[in-house]
Amino acid sequence: MPSYDPNNIFAKILSGELPCHKVYEDDKALAFLDIMPRAPGHTLVLPKAQARNILDIAPDDLAHVMAVAQKIAKAAMTAFEADGITVQQFNEGAGGQVVFHLHVHVIPRKAGVPMKPPAAEKEKPDVLADCAKKLAAAIAAG
Ligand code: AMP
Repeated sequence: MPSYDPNNIFAKILSGELPCHKVYEDDKALAFLDIMPRAPGHTLVLPKAQARNILDIAPDDLAHVMAVAQKIAKAAMTAFEADGITVQQFNEGAGGQVVFHLHVHVIPRKAGVPMKPPAAEKEKPDVLADCAKKLAAAIAAG
């Protein structure tokens, strides 16, 4: 497996070099909205530690990312009046991974509504900003 590339796009978001629609941050993780959501509220949860994917992340960092994913999932059920949540996580190109800093997808789902295909459409910034505000408020409310 190739080594971690510190110039990947998510590393630049983590360092503040590139913007994101943030929904949650703590000392070990950051969560922000996917710019090409497969459903409204589609969120990505990342460790702050440098990890390419599940194959090189430290178990404690992975456990923390999953705990944050759970927090986001619960808040998303309320914020987006979801009926369910799809959690996805891809590893290496053959596993469907496109950006090589580990991330967990948390995707709110409505009954009977299929997900859009991956990378189908870039969402408008004002729509993302509104979703991020709603989700951050639901997370803060616990
Ligand atoms: P994957 O590596 O297959 O899990 O997919 C990477 C995901 O990152 C895709 O769902 C993209 O829509 C998303 N993505 C790519 N660039 C950005 C960005 N700058 N901000 C937020 N999401 C992004």
